[in-house]
Amino acid sequence: MKLTFWGAARTTTGSFHLLETRGKRIALDCGLFQGRRSEFFERNRDFPCPPADVHATLLSHAHIDHCGNLPNFVAQGFEGNVFGTNATMDLARTLLLDSAYIQEKDTQFVNKIRARKDEPPVNPLYTVEDVEPCLDLFVEIGYYRTFCFAEGFCGRFIEAGHILGSAQVQLDVEQASGAQHRLVFSGDIGRAGRDILRDPEIPGEAQTLIMECTYGNRPTEPIEGLREELRDLVTRVADRGGKIIIPAFSVGRTQDLVYQLSLLFREGALPQIPIYVDSPLSANVTEIFRNHPECFDRETRDLLRKEHNPFGFETLTYIRDVEESKALNELKEPAVIISASGMCEAGRILHHLRNSIHDPKNCVLIVGFQAEHTLGRRIVEKRPKVRIFGEEHPLRAEVKVLNGFSAHADRDELRDYAFRVQTRSGGMLERIFLVHGEKEAGEDLASYLREALGVEVHFPERGDTFEL
Ligand SMILES: [Zn+2]
Repeated sequence: MKLTFWGAARTTTGSFHLLETRGKRIALDCGLFQGRRSEFFERNRDFPCPPADVHATLLSHAHIDHCGNLPNFVAQGFEGNVFGTNATMDLARTLLLDSAYIQEKDTQFVNKIRARKDEPPVNPLYTVEDVEPCLDLFVEIGYYRTFCFAEGFCGRFIEAGHILGSAQVQLDVEQASGAQHRLVFSGDIGRAGRDILRDPEIPGEAQTLIMECTYGNRPTEPIEGLREELRDLVTRVADRGGKIIIPAFSVGRTQDLVYQLSLLFREGALPQIPIYVDSPLSANVTEIFRNHPECFDRETRDLLRKEHNPFGFETLTYIRDVEESKALNELKEPAVIISASGMCEAGRILHHLRNSIHDPKNCVLIVGFQAEHTLGRRIVEKRPKVRIFGEEHPLRAEVKVLNGFSAHADRDELRDYAFRVQTRSGGMLERIFLVHGEKEAGEDLASYLREALGVEVHFPERGDTFEL
């Protein structure tokens, strides 16, 4: 059996791995590569084999960097089934359409600026029309159901605790020799003890483990105390008359923030300032959350049973309309604006940043991992000037990072995860591949795991192939 790493290899975006045995090819994830604009098209259009030769795709979760290249994959000839959990597929439908829409809109905007400079127009990677054929291929599978999708290939989705519907993919493959091989792909691993979602599970009896390593070299802040930090920050910035701009993934981080803000609001601990979730996705996504109680932890299920809406409160407004979103640009009073995308690569957040980052009264609150070469990363690095829509803007606003909101396991949690998988595998674990992490994160975790577990640990480059 051959395993090729093609995306999220020594980087954190564009998750895509290819498994090959007995004439069948299976893709694990089909994520969108996000990064430098110059690389965006080339990296996303390029696949390790013709998409028509791939038999099926298994999705770990619905974040765009894990499923967002599907429309392009399908347009290039893939026509197999796309498997994911029920909630993943519900979210992916909505997110893919949104991703296409944002690409169309951003391209229009960029082209306006290019026209002024007499530069030729550019095309989006895919359009809304390209998304529709790929939705026909979706097959929903409940957590913990075993599904066999080709002779000698059976899969199972296990809780990953990262976002709604997120799963680890357990694959049982019959090799050409007739021997069975158990491979586990962790997808993105969440953190135990977070609100809303269940904790990540530890899969057992894996021979090959492909695991993420986003925070492989870094402990993040504990979950405890986070709500108080959020309260203090909102109060402080509101007192000085500023706005708080929060770039956040539409799914996951936005709900986490709203959930924490709603608890603070009910405790009477927040200043009475308006809170806007400026993303047309949010109403749909909240509905999807409510339709999937099977993904919640006990506390959130109980809360929902009492008909309490943890995703809404008096001072909170969800904004869908473009004109209302533009009106936020004129806001002079303190406010919290949560908008997508999470790494500031596209979407309405760009307009809010363009309008706010020059003023030291304001604050940009970063609550998620920012990949290299993204605007989000440049903001975290507090560069004196950043480019937005092709133009330079001075960054004078306060930049605050709250890593405790991370939906990713940190260094110690990743080490513990690998250790527990090995223990549960009872000596079967032969090798670990680290993906979805930058150089230092992967190298650090690899050397730790080699020493601590005594198994083969690889940190593959894009295009590396291994024989299992
Ligand atoms: Zn993710």
